[in-house]
Amino acid sequence: MKQVDILVVGGSAAGIPAAITARRHHPEKSLLLIRKEDQVVIPCGIPYIFGTVGSPDNNLIPDIVLHNNGVDFIVDEAKKLDPIEKKVTLASGESVLYDKLLLATGSVPLVPPIPGIDKKNVYPVKKDVKYLKTLLDAMENTKDLVILGCGFIGVEFADECKKNRDINVTIVEMLDQCLQIAFGEEACRCCQEVESYLEEKGISIVTGTKLEEVLGDERVTAVKLSNGEKIKADLLIVGIGVRPNIDLAEKAGLAVNKGGIIVDTTMRTSDPNIFACGDCASKFSFFTGQTSGLRLASIATTEARIAGANLYEISRKNPGVVGVFSTALGNLTVAMVGMSEKGAKECGFDVVVGEAEAPDRHPGKMPGMSKLWVKLIFNKVNGELVGGVVRGGPSAGELINTISACIQNRMRASDIAIIQIGTHPAVTASPIVYQLVNAAETALEKTRL
Ligand SMILES: Cc1cc2nc3c(=O)[nH]c(=O)nc-3n(C[C@H](O)[C@H](O)[C@H](O)COP(=O)(O)OP(=O)(O)OC[C@H]3O[C@@H](n4cnc5c(N)ncnc54)[C@H](O)[C@@H]3O)c2cc1C
Repeated sequence: MKQVDILVVGGSAAGIPAAITARRHHPEKSLLLIRKEDQVVIPCGIPYIFGTVGSPDNNLIPDIVLHNNGVDFIVDEAKKLDPIEKKVTLASGESVLYDKLLLATGSVPLVPPIPGIDKKNVYPVKKDVKYLKTLLDAMENTKDLVILGCGFIGVEFADECKKNRDINVTIVEMLDQCLQIAFGEEACRCCQEVESYLEEKGISIVTGTKLEEVLGDERVTAVKLSNGEKIKADLLIVGIGVRPNIDLAEKAGLAVNKGGIIVDTTMRTSDPNIFACGDCASKFSFFTGQTSGLRLASIATTEARIAGANLYEISRKNPGVVGVFSTALGNLTVAMVGMSEKGAKECGFDVVVGEAEAPDRHPGKMPGMSKLWVKLIFNKVNGELVGGVVRGGPSAGELINTISACIQNRMRASDIAIIQIGTHPAVTASPIVYQLVNAAETALEKTRL
């Protein structure tokens, strides 16, 4: 039987930074990470396996990350957790005694209870290298691909699968627009452009329609929609979300609910010696304190850095989920953080918005220039920033993170209007038209915040 001070179960976006943080904060402790899989896929890179990067082998988190940070690991599966004995039993029969346990067991894809969903060539998106190789092989013999779900995963899969392949691609989405869950009514501008981009590439999008049945004998041959239409399909990819993987924790008697393993703001579970982080852990909104269903790698790593630091002494607190999304299709990047204008109003906030658009280089003739549009949403009562939307080229991806930092630091429009920014013709907008600052200024024009 092994014995360690700190045991981490899970080796992906949450498990790795949790282990590295625990190692940094507690260098004197023995530490072991256990993960199920031989090779760890970069979860956010999965769609790009089917186009840009070409293979699961080109989309891996290398083990050198663990080696370089002094984290030992074994490949095995934690089958049973005994919180009284502080023992985890593995599939190999080995057991590990721990002093502190970090659960980072992640999530599994949601599979809707649709008739025929268990037919061959139906692929919910799993974060598993061998499975993704099988899906890639299946793709090579595909003529008609249907993707269920037009969130980030659906649009990225559609764009990548269409690259260099002469296949028909159709996305089926029950909501009225693609990316609607992330963007809310801000969908109007960003999501219409995403839809136009996909349609220009020859991808069909069927919105406001449910997929009701998967047709075929053993193997999918078509799908039936709620509008009565049938669409030919020899491959169906299901990308409609995930559910937290709480089996181990639940069987051990830890407090869980539909949202995951219940944790407090220090990421501690109902057992003081067990912490949880990432997709398996429950979440709450930064803005309202209410339960949040968001599951993102960026959230997982933040929670991991809180949990890993807190194991022996509480030093970090989770302020709740802000929610930062971005996606890129060709040269178009759309990104969103926090609350949409409509979402904020629905939560009872009185809001004022500011917008600005300008080239992201100066002069605009500089190579690589894209028009960058920014919308900021402020709470009218205290002036604090509660949301942002950015649309443009690659520079949108980092600007949304700056806006996220402003939100988390509860900055007001008057703070952002005089924020000191670094600019350069080749890499940023001109300081005169800097979109973040000018969007705050236009909000201030409407009301003194
Ligand atoms: C296609 C796709 C694209 C995405 N794109 C983005 C994006 O662009 N940006 C973003 O922020 N997020 C994105 N996400 C979400 C992101 O992937 C997840 O939020 C992230 O993977 C969560 O990390 P995690 O470590 O909590 O869980 P997981 O990635 O699910 O990892 C769980 C780990 O635990 C291990 N494990 C589970 N049970 C056991 C056990 N009993 N014993 C041992 N090991 C176990 C697993 O093997 C795995 O190593 C995407 C997700 C998908 C599917």
